[in-house]
Amino acid sequence: MKYLFKNARILKMNGEEIFFGDLIVKDNRIAYVGKSIDHKDTFDRIIQCDGNLLMPGFKNCHTHSPMVFLRSFADDLPLQDWLFNYCFPAEKNLTGEDIYHLSKLAFLEYLSSGITACFDQYFYPHMFIKACKDFGMRSLVCFMPTSYYSKEDMMRMFEKEENDVHSLTKYCFSLHSEYTTSKEEVDLINELVHHYKVPFYTHLSETKKEVDECYEKRGMSPIEYFEKEGLFDFGGGGYHCIYMSDKDIEIFKKYNLSVVSNPGSNSKLASGICDIEKLRKAGVNVCLGTDGPASNNCLDMFKEMMLAFSFAKLKNMDASALPAEEVLKMATVNGSKALNLKDADILEVGKLADIIMIDLSRPNMRPLLNIEKNIVFSGSKENIKMTMIDGKILYEDGKFFVDEDVEQIYQKSQEITIKLLKAVGRYE
Ligand SMILES: [Zn+2]
Repeated sequence: MKYLFKNARILKMNGEEIFFGDLIVKDNRIAYVGKSIDHKDTFDRIIQCDGNLLMPGFKNCHTHSPMVFLRSFADDLPLQDWLFNYCFPAEKNLTGEDIYHLSKLAFLEYLSSGITACFDQYFYPHMFIKACKDFGMRSLVCFMPTSYYSKEDMMRMFEKEENDVHSLTKYCFSLHSEYTTSKEEVDLINELVHHYKVPFYTHLSETKKEVDECYEKRGMSPIEYFEKEGLFDFGGGGYHCIYMSDKDIEIFKKYNLSVVSNPGSNSKLASGICDIEKLRKAGVNVCLGTDGPASNNCLDMFKEMMLAFSFAKLKNMDASALPAEEVLKMATVNGSKALNLKDADILEVGKLADIIMIDLSRPNMRPLLNIEKNIVFSGSKENIKMTMIDGKILYEDGKFFVDEDVEQIYQKSQEITIKLLKAVGRYE
């Protein structure tokens, strides 16, 4: 397909000012971005943008998409009770088929929130990958040690995606966390990280309890532990990263690691506040993730952006902390860096066409004094007019254009949710 977007405001996210112009998408890449001119070519579709804004899509850098079945299932409970008595038992009967269908519900929400790529970590990642491919979602998916994949299985699946240059999906290697992982599991993932020379990610320094217990057990922080084991030798980073010492920050700088901050999850679970401003000023790449729908509960990057700047300003008691432009970078280009999506970071010729259109005709976007600040401070999902992934428009004007009937996705996820909760006596 060949699309011409006419008369758009364009925010490339490369440091240039917003300008009026046109953008052409040919197949899955950007073929032109610049001032409005007479284009001689023929197009499958010409979209009159009427001054609405085109910008790169948001990157959701930490999530557990299939956990939609736990949304609003057990909330407002203490963390340990919520996790051990509600979430873990309900997850026990999940099948790969469930993962496939539940993921699609999360993808619909991503589209309506302008999210064009996600970084997912959950059970049966091969079924998540299948859902991404059928649906058209771009993702990076983690392999963790499990009983159902051998080392050889993981290597075969990793190489298949890695060698496919057109693939929407890639794998990486991870562990759930320092406190839930055995030495054998650390050694297995370490071997794979070194074999393929690839980054490593994990939940990291999310709670004070986790860090305190690691010091007691190992005499060092979780970040120091993973560094000592060599897991960061080829980069990567951590999700949450709330309780970081100055030494931990130095490790992040040394290995060029990324912090994925999850302010929605951290507030709902009362985990604490990640000091994004301190990390940013230290030169650490910080990006944003929603975390899973059980601990958030929504998959909405506008909400994460709002919480990110709110927490940064409150934590520092400084209204100038974490300016809107930096928040927007965290949600887009910084996320591309963390996901190693070098081709889907900015709007430039040759880059992948992962593009969103922001509706500037809504009241919360007026007046048009500073559009970037409008998006961060007053923007919401109602402003997502279009979401394009890999050159395909999957969401436009409130309608989804995906492989499956949306009502079927809703119905299937409802059935699976009831089945899983009934199995553990949590649904009447
Ligand atoms: Zn998580």
